Amino acid sequence: MGNSKIETLRGRVRGAVILPSDDGYDEARRVYNAMIDRRPAVIVRCASAADVAAAVDFARESQLALAVRGGGHSVPGFGTVDGGVVADLSGMRAVHVDPEKRTARAEGGATWGAFNEATGAFGLATTGGIISTTGVAGLTLGGGIGYLARGFGLSCDNLVSAEVVTADGRTVTASEDEHADLFWAIRGGGGNFGVATALEFQLHPVQEIYGGPMFFELEDAGTVLRFYREFIADAPEQFGGFPAFQIAPPLPFIPENRHGDTFLAFVACWAGPVEEGERALKPLHDVAQVVAEHVGPMPYPALNGAFDALVPAGLQHYWKANFVRDLTDDAIAAHLEHGPRVPTVNSTVHIYPINGACHRVAADATAFAYREANFAPVIAGMWPDPAQNEANIRWVREYYAATAPLSEEGGYINFMAGDDQDRIKANYKGNYPRLVEAKRRWDPDNLFRVNQNIKP
Ligand SMILES: Cc1cc2nc3c(=O)[nH]c(=O)nc-3n(C[C@H](O)[C@H](O)[C@H](O)COP(=O)(O)OP(=O)(O)OC[C@H]3O[C@@H](n4cnc5c(N)ncnc54)[C@H](O)[C@@H]3O)c2cc1C
Repeated sequence: MGNSKIETLRGRVRGAVILPSDDGYDEARRVYNAMIDRRPAVIVRCASAADVAAAVDFARESQLALAVRGGGHSVPGFGTVDGGVVADLSGMRAVHVDPEKRTARAEGGATWGAFNEATGAFGLATTGGIISTTGVAGLTLGGGIGYLARGFGLSCDNLVSAEVVTADGRTVTASEDEHADLFWAIRGGGGNFGVATALEFQLHPVQEIYGGPMFFELEDAGTVLRFYREFIADAPEQFGGFPAFQIAPPLPFIPENRHGDTFLAFVACWAGPVEEGERALKPLHDVAQVVAEHVGPMPYPALNGAFDALVPAGLQHYWKANFVRDLTDDAIAAHLEHGPRVPTVNSTVHIYPINGACHRVAADATAFAYREANFAPVIAGMWPDPAQNEANIRWVREYYAATAPLSEEGGYINFMAGDDQDRIKANYKGNYPRLVEAKRRWDPDNLFRVNQNIKP
């Protein structure tokens, strides 16, 4: 790659252009999953949509692979690439709220923490991730599952429009009224169709929620999971939350002699009137003895940041996932066998509910196809020590091997591993041919291929 090309790029962008020889390169190439150790040829720290277009043009014209980084949380490390170009949007994190219209516009590198802080100031929220450091764009473009999904649908269901830089370097608006085929494809199709430089969301009144984690003994895990399966089928839609196999961290509300023990935790989030929260959670709370809990009224952004410390940047990650329609007794038995073996305090298994409002969107209305699935479990292996990679990956794979035959064929693209590319078709079921059609129209040369890739 010639110096003159780099100088032209530097002249065109407002943000920094970082090369392997530059100070700060090692810091700039780092992503959240420390297992990923890639060496891009050029990192463009984008400061604007125009910078993003310049990075896209540069990658296309230089015939280099292009990775797009929002929050950087991709477990397979899709926010970086060996020998290619990284368009790093992490500096584009502004969120603007319109309280009259109840909408928020987030830049393409905003995190859910910044989003919830901005919208929370107006007593508003939309479905977002459960950890505050995850990127709004990556999560939403893949679907978007969180505490509020049963009430308001997936994050992508709340997307009103997006500003997208396409493979040919144009900036277009995607909405129901403009480029509707692109708008359809980006609601579940991930980063396959362009770079979202801004995303506009519908917001809903959410002030304080009532919730938090409660810890049940492992011997009660079967009872709690069977109760959850029945309860969540027709619980009020303001009820969100999920069961989790979890090693107790050293937190003050957990008895000290139980720190390090494994529990079946349940993290609840009641987003209805806060004074009704205790009553709403009571059936779940009373299903077995609660050993420790930190449940009560709190601002929604506080719950969104509550578990950040368990998943700091720099851990090793390996995740697997399938959607589940019926959480059968056999599936629960598989969870009871493998869940208690959760190897580290950072690792976890969450069984998210995706019924309620998620089911009211037709399977072909957006690219996200699994509208009849009731649960989106994720086996999330996270650990600090690379020397332990083999044992931790083995736990994830064995757990997955036991649960996959009892699940739907496809899974949620945002929870899948780098070795799951052969499952892409299954993830989109009947929507796959239409996604290929959209890919051929918007990215015929597959410039956007560093992702769970839909081939043109
Ligand atoms: C700790 C943790 C917690 C999580 N919790 C949840 C959760 O509660 N709910 C849930 O649904 N998922 C969750 N996820 C999964 C998460 O949705 C995916 O990891 C998602 O890809 C992260 O997006 P990002 O922008 O942070 O990541 P990145 O690594 O920056 O990007 C991920 C993918 O999205 C693409 N992308 C990112 N930004 C843009 C953009 N602006 N335009 C176009 N493409 C873009 C990238 O190219 C890449 O393919 C979690 C992940 C982690 C690690």
